[in-house]
Amino acid sequence: MNKLQTLQHYFGHDNFREQQEEVIDAILNQEDVLMILPTGGGKSLCYQLPSLLMSGVTVVISPLLALMHDQVVSLRENGIPSAMLSSMQTLEETRQIEQQLRTNQIKLLYVAPERLMNAYFLTFLLDLNINFFVVDEAHCVSEWGHEFREHYRMLSQLRISFPSTTITAFTATATPMVRDDILNNLNLKSPKVITGSLFRKNLTIQAKHRQTDGRRQLLDFLKQHDNEAGIVYAFSRKQTESIATYLKKQGYKAEAYHAGLATNVKNKVFGDFVADNINIVVATIAFGMGIDKSNIRFVVHLNLPKTLENYYQEIGRAGRDGLDASTLLLFSNTDIVQQKAFISELDDSPYKENAFEKINTISRFSNSDGCRHQQIATYFHEEIDACQSSCDNCINPDKDKIDITEDAQKILSAIYRTQQSFGIHYIVDVLRGSQEQRILQNAHNELSVYSIGKHYSKAQWLNISDKLLEIGAVSIGEYKVYKLLDKGIDILKGLAKLDIKQSRMEVAKEKTLKENKHSKKRVEYFDDYEVEIFDQLRELRKAIATENKVPPYVVFSDKTLKELSNLMPSNKAEMLNIHGIGEVKFERYGQLFLDKMEEIENA
Ligand SMILES: [Zn+2]
Repeated sequence: MNKLQTLQHYFGHDNFREQQEEVIDAILNQEDVLMILPTGGGKSLCYQLPSLLMSGVTVVISPLLALMHDQVVSLRENGIPSAMLSSMQTLEETRQIEQQLRTNQIKLLYVAPERLMNAYFLTFLLDLNINFFVVDEAHCVSEWGHEFREHYRMLSQLRISFPSTTITAFTATATPMVRDDILNNLNLKSPKVITGSLFRKNLTIQAKHRQTDGRRQLLDFLKQHDNEAGIVYAFSRKQTESIATYLKKQGYKAEAYHAGLATNVKNKVFGDFVADNINIVVATIAFGMGIDKSNIRFVVHLNLPKTLENYYQEIGRAGRDGLDASTLLLFSNTDIVQQKAFISELDDSPYKENAFEKINTISRFSNSDGCRHQQIATYFHEEIDACQSSCDNCINPDKDKIDITEDAQKILSAIYRTQQSFGIHYIVDVLRGSQEQRILQNAHNELSVYSIGKHYSKAQWLNISDKLLEIGAVSIGEYKVYKLLDKGIDILKGLAKLDIKQSRMEVAKEKTLKENKHSKKRVEYFDDYEVEIFDQLRELRKAIATENKVPPYVVFSDKTLKELSNLMPSNKAEMLNIHGIGEVKFERYGQLFLDKMEEIENA
């Protein structure tokens, strides 16, 4: 069989996609290759197909068991003898595969890098007829990449142990720095470097400022994707669970997925998603690397990813079948501040500097009003024209801006008059004339700024404060306290003006707590909680404390009550997940609080 016949026979395609043939020819010519091709571009076929035209076995090094497993399953489905060797297999299974390898019955062998570098295994491989090596997800070699793996570093040994065997490397994304790392580390010999275009016209990219925790925006987005498959990326394990629960309540077939789940649970969620038994997976970044599902129609990020590489790779999981797919990035400038705070705690190193730069890049990307596709391409050193029709900024250039200088002055003034000692929710509550106890205790209801901001909802004020963060008019210090920066002082003094895109101020009207009882607010980073529920729980705590003659904080801490107000658990298991509630505490007070929360829910 020739190339084309093989393509038709085993893979069922009639012709090669752009650049596939070039790579295949290079491999058949025994040339080293580095291929950088976006997810969905048909990378794996580039090494699977030539393997079928060669007499030995192709060894594929891959970082993830799930990824290897998927590939082996789909190869076998196509009638291609293949196997994987991993720590998950029994000794007997391993011996059996080794026997098949010795007798040349396997065309593709998938292994993890740590296995490959094991001395016994290396010796074993030396006796086999190896077609060529494939280093998949090759960006893991580079410390500059976003997914560096220690074991990948050792792959530099490959060239030493197998000086005359062809080595090929594949990755979806690589900046020039990462590309150089791959070439140097793997010691590729005058390699053919083939780069596919990053531009994927079938992906519509949208980035929006997140309103509070973004749930309402998520629901609006999902309305356009009824019964379609998609991934929602969240920041923390807890957040994945609370969002999945929320979506289920709204009638969606959704499940949470994160590294903290038991393996059998993870496998089930993965399997159900691949099989279309569920539509939506709410996941941390632990989900999706190497996922082969081609009909993912949307990807949503509820927080800013750490790097543009991560982001591009994650949205790349949508629309791999070439059909239209949508992506939505919801971000807030507080995400950026928080991530920078994490990084600044690291020891000084080039890594740290690099991490800062990456956050700045993605923050510019998300706040910008230029073509999204073009910005991504530029970042990876590819020049393309503006997409015209595949990103929010091209489809809907938002030229309408409104002057918010006066409103900005109100916030800045409130920050100043409360001695730059409070978080933004408190500041906004002061502006909106809240009767909250803490405000009254601090006599902040007597300030001139008290109650001068009723014309905007809380969400709208938060959008303005987000804009102030974006332009560097304020900073967030310890305990999430807002402080004025020079730029902010200029605005306050009337020396500078500020405007904002009109669309950024258009938010859904705030609902009352009662209407809104299923959309409980949860903001991971900030001290944000449902004040009215919290107050009711606090009353209950007070009553219990009085009756038992103990201080209220001995019953439950404020932190516990805040978490309860946000998450509103409805049974013992959920209660036990809350900070500060163990079995004993639950036995003592749990039921009382469960009853109270049920009462609040039904009010
Ligand atoms: Zn565009």
